[in-house]
Amino acid sequence: MQKTRIRLDNISKSYYSETAVTQALRKINLTFSEGEFVAITGESGSGKSTLLNIIGGMDSFDDGEMYIDGEPTFQYDDQDWEDYRQKKIGYVFQDYSLIGHYSVLANVVSALMIMGYERQEARKVAFTYLEQVGLSEYVKHRANELSSGQKQRLSIARALAKNTGIIVADEPTGNLDSETGEQIMRLLKELSKTRLVIMVTHNFEQAERYVTRKIRIHDGELISDVQMNKELADEVTAINEENSATLTENSDTNQGGFRGWLNSFKKQSKLAFFFARKNCLTLPGRSLLFTMFLLIVSVVSFLFIGQLFMNADDIFTKEYSQKGFYKANATRLVVKKEDGSTFTDEDLEVISKVNHVIVVDSCDFANDINYYIEEDRDYEYLRGRRIRGEGESKVVSFLNESHFMMSTDCIDEGDLAAGRLPEARNEIVLYADDSSILGEERLCYFTAANIWDVNECYQTNLVVTGILKNPTEQVYFSKELCNMLSMDMDSGEYRLYYNYDYTKEDYKQKPRVVPVIADDLRGNLVRISHKFEVPTVGYVDFHFEDRDGEVIESEVRVLPETNASTTDFMEVSEEFFYTYYSKEIKQISVYMTSYAKTDEVIKALADKGYLAMSTYRTSVTEYLESLVSERLIIIAISAGVLVVLAFAQILILRSLMKIKIKDFFVLKFIGMKLQVIKKISHFEFLIYTAIAMMITVIAMWVLRYSGVAMIRDMMWYYEFGAYAFFVLYNLVLSAITVAAFNHLLKGRLNA
Ligand code: ADP
Ligand code: MG
Repeated sequence: MQKTRIRLDNISKSYYSETAVTQALRKINLTFSEGEFVAITGESGSGKSTLLNIIGGMDSFDDGEMYIDGEPTFQYDDQDWEDYRQKKIGYVFQDYSLIGHYSVLANVVSALMIMGYERQEARKVAFTYLEQVGLSEYVKHRANELSSGQKQRLSIARALAKNTGIIVADEPTGNLDSETGEQIMRLLKELSKTRLVIMVTHNFEQAERYVTRKIRIHDGELISDVQMNKELADEVTAINEENSATLTENSDTNQGGFRGWLNSFKKQSKLAFFFARKNCLTLPGRSLLFTMFLLIVSVVSFLFIGQLFMNADDIFTKEYSQKGFYKANATRLVVKKEDGSTFTDEDLEVISKVNHVIVVDSCDFANDINYYIEEDRDYEYLRGRRIRGEGESKVVSFLNESHFMMSTDCIDEGDLAAGRLPEARNEIVLYADDSSILGEERLCYFTAANIWDVNECYQTNLVVTGILKNPTEQVYFSKELCNMLSMDMDSGEYRLYYNYDYTKEDYKQKPRVVPVIADDLRGNLVRISHKFEVPTVGYVDFHFEDRDGEVIESEVRVLPETNASTTDFMEVSEEFFYTYYSKEIKQISVYMTSYAKTDEVIKALADKGYLAMSTYRTSVTEYLESLVSERLIIIAISAGVLVVLAFAQILILRSLMKIKIKDFFVLKFIGMKLQVIKKISHFEFLIYTAIAMMITVIAMWVLRYSGVAMIRDMMWYYEFGAYAFFVLYNLVLSAITVAAFNHLLKGRLNA
């Protein structure tokens, strides 16, 4: 008598639905031993499959007890049933339950790897079993390219490869023609010599010659149980299940503690990764679809996370006041030395090398002086009112205040396409389409609302000595001109003292004047507007008070101004000018790549001993309601998009994943643990998401450097925080998507 493997004791099973209760099995008592080839027969709906599924550990029972190798199963948990399915049962199904997109070989290898075989070993073993069922010529074919008979043979090879002592087969010949069915019967009969084979069949005639036992059920009840073909049963020699037992021991979690957990985690991950990779490779269409979808999510999230980070600072919702710094440029810093000392060339060199510093201009104050060089763009003449000019009557009107002086500190020879950098005071470089304007004179007006009086404008002719390579409206002026026009701020204040009042013992007139150089003047000869009514005979007292309050007194001789000028400028000789002009640089302007880098640059400069201040931050005052709400709307929209995107991804991808849900049933039936099954999709999505994120980031960098302004401005805000947010958002979202799918999958697998 052979060893008993399975014993069913009063097993009952009912299916409950909302409308009805179906009793599929009623008090079944059966015992199965090694070497038996059992046929379960009965009409459709009689409970055959239910019985087989209970034996195979794929379905639960309500009542009674099942003994496996003499052990009762009442205390079995999910894990124990997983082990049972993995180690003791091989399955053959009517619908073959193959993974159609895997190769023939991979279908068998999969089963072996689930049992704990290494990949190479699994391949070797798989070949022998494929040979045994006559499929060695088809190993490279996709499983769904096979004929029905070949599919069933493959499914048998897979069950065989597991080397289990029990094989259950549910209508294995149900979809086969009779001749192919015969082949399968012979194969199963052969197997039963060393195993217990239990088969459900609706076609008993076909099985009659091979089986050793026939069980008939009707309406969930056992009707008959007869032994047949006695002579066949005698040949039995049980197989050695040891092989599989030792293998599976390796992959077990029996090793307690953290190390045990870690070990099994590693093993499971490796296995899951193998299947994830296989899915990526064998389902290129699906992989591409998922990656494209995730790419869209990744790109959209990148853009809106950028918006969130750009709008994190509310500075741009405040009104800029031009009182302190006339030029409202968010990338400008004003820098002083910590000890208040003078900047040297080395200082400028050090500062220009600080990360994210692009321009250093030692002529700081000139950066707040407007220039107007292009007629009809920057200024126009209104005719009819005679205010200034010889013969012609015209008045200049400025059209914008968008151009501010910058000195040639900000450029070097490399920026020039033609010509040279300015050497003399009245020389400039600018951008032009053709270099024929080299040497041409340009009339240029200047206003400096914060330095001179608001209505003041200085005009002079400048010579173009260089053409810039890159298109820009910015004109670069000689440092002499920059310093000359900002002299008042740089060095100190000029006053003329005249009309002495002997009774009060003070001058009646002490007007402030702004010095500018006129090349035709020499010595202390100056020229000044008629409006001052300065005595033009003899000398006039001149007071210069520097920034520290020190006063130098001197005398000038005043020339009557021929022009009917109303300006506060005093034209002086170059030598006079430089007597009072301080060439010490105490304050410079520094421009950064982006406002986003303000804190970083200020900190880097502080580390090197420089005090830096954002001119923009110090100049913004009141909130502007419209901008505040605009910012809040952008933040709300961005956050909203990220939330909607998350839901869309979870719902859409979860449904798309359902298309291949059958594969997971197959994996479960061939013994894969649920924990591993769940990991497969996680790894798969990790791969897709990583690819999508990589493509996104590369694309953004390409766009940034191909000059897409919107992307470039945003990318400055992409620092560690934003990237971390982006990566986390996409990874966590994918993990949630997979978890949502796994939840659904778990429900289906356990049903
Ligand atoms: P057979 O394989 O002999 O055709 P089954 O074992 O599949 O029969 O089914 C036995 C009975 O249980 C049938 O009445 C069937 O409708 C019912 N049944 C089977 N599976 C389910 C299920 N998952 N839910 C509800 N009823 C089921
Ligand atoms: Mg059935």
